Amino acid sequence: MLNQIGKWKIFPLETGDFRLDGGAMMGSVPKTLWEKTNPADKYNRIDLSLRCLLLDDGENRVLIDTGLGTKGSEKFKTMFHIVQPENPLKNALSKIGFSPKDVTHVIFSHLHFDHAGGATELNQDGQPVPAFPNAEYFITESQWKQANQPNTRDRASFQQADFLPLQEAGLLQLIPENTTIINGISTYCVHGHTCGQQLVKLEDGDEALIFCSDLIPLKSHLQIPWIMGYDLNALLTLEEKTQFLSQAGDENWWLVFDHDPITSAVKIKQGEKYYDIVDEVLRKFD
Ligand SMILES: [Zn+2]
Repeated sequence: MLNQIGKWKIFPLETGDFRLDGGAMMGSVPKTLWEKTNPADKYNRIDLSLRCLLLDDGENRVLIDTGLGTKGSEKFKTMFHIVQPENPLKNALSKIGFSPKDVTHVIFSHLHFDHAGGATELNQDGQPVPAFPNAEYFITESQWKQANQPNTRDRASFQQADFLPLQEAGLLQLIPENTTIINGISTYCVHGHTCGQQLVKLEDGDEALIFCSDLIPLKSHLQIPWIMGYDLNALLTLEEKTQFLSQAGDENWWLVFDHDPITSAVKIKQGEKYYDIVDEVLRKFD
């Protein structure tokens, strides 16, 4: 089971579900292969979860990613088939006895709207304001630059209302790559999906967990050539994933998935072709 590492209690937060095009999620893999594990709806979209993670050491509450949030229009909700409670993060936090005010750190893996959307919410005047008023928010300098100067290919993935209000409120920390944020919690940076994506690692002694974010969004992506069409640099992802999975297998890390609709986390070992699952945590449904 995956409940605690060192002094940190671990809570996967299920904030809802959405759908994206299955072909875009699987890149060059033919549909006849991926639809066996990830069936498509009539618009060719597959189910994806919006899983975040909360780590609590009794003193600090560290939130990793924030899901889609609540600012989206009805059109946006329909386009991505968003199904989530009215206040998804508030709701998920209250189930484990916390409120947004209790969160001390928010670490973004990257600033795509399905990861950063919940960082801000609309106030009574319809203006976006920080959703976790007592937290510091952490993102790499390189991802901050990418989000503020996106290219024509990834422009639609970033929404400034998700992150500019954090800077305006003085709550944003731009950090270097591969750094320690707080005791036992550090970042592991990869760049194939987007520049300066940081995976978040919690370790104590020989126990470790890593939030894989969009390096390995679904269990299916444990198969090394299954690489998202969304990635800016698929060959770099291939290299990064090969290195990452080899270390994860050797060092027995828990791998937490952000978007797998059924499986929250796995441990792996090198198998004949790719990797075999040796331990698994399934998503808890209400
Ligand atoms: Zn992404």
